Amino acid sequence: MDPLVVNLWVLLFGMAVGSFLNVCIYRLPRSLSLIRPGSMCPGCRSKIAFYDNIPVLSYLLLKGRCRRCGARISPRYPLVELVSGLFAVAVLGRYGLTLEAFVLYALTAALLVITFIDIDHQIIPDVITYPGIVIGFLMSFFLDHVTYQESFIGILVGGGSLLLVAWGYHGLTKREGMGGGDIKLLAMIGAFLGWKAVVFTIFAGSAIGTVVGATVALRKGGGRRLAVPFGPFLSLGALLFLFFGPQVIHWYLGLMR
Ligand SMILES: [Zn+2]
Repeated sequence: MDPLVVNLWVLLFGMAVGSFLNVCIYRLPRSLSLIRPGSMCPGCRSKIAFYDNIPVLSYLLLKGRCRRCGARISPRYPLVELVSGLFAVAVLGRYGLTLEAFVLYALTAALLVITFIDIDHQIIPDVITYPGIVIGFLMSFFLDHVTYQESFIGILVGGGSLLLVAWGYHGLTKREGMGGGDIKLLAMIGAFLGWKAVVFTIFAGSAIGTVVGATVALRKGGGRRLAVPFGPFLSLGALLFLFFGPQVIHWYLGLMR
């Protein structure tokens, strides 16, 4: 098949998955069923017909409003769908149509859900991270990008990162930086990507988080404490490792010389 056609199908697949991820982001923290009822308008609670629920396209056709009541629909819905589709294409480009690609795409999807739930509720649900740790470790026996030893050490390093943070972040800023959810997220990242990814994710996530946190603090007036969730930055760090890890590490080591 034409590679362009394959990529297009994978993009559509990823966007359809993204539609389900939106459901997870809204319902998981509220302990609602992921299956029933079907999608509803948050404004008028009317059921959304399948033809108004096509990823990205329906949002554009309806100009971001509910067909029934005209309530605004957050642009985040098509954004999550689009990003999910692009992740699918990116993973395919890197790993081809393999089990590897499928597993790593599942990781990117989990990171996407965790990012937005953490932004909305400042929690990272155990129902994602605990199964994620187990699945990531089991899959390491079948995949090429990580050995089961690297995966196992990754879980330990990720889970043990609490100590590192107690020494590092807390020592620098005199406040708690990470919650228990962040630790479990790091263990999950370690399970899927190995211990090197955990180390990379902590440094990249902290660096990006510090820059963003400082920028926000400066804008809102100095000295104000802001609860900036760490999960999105850890997720971003893990994604950077997944897509650019070897290049970034190579570049960084080049700087040290
Ligand atoms: Zn409505």
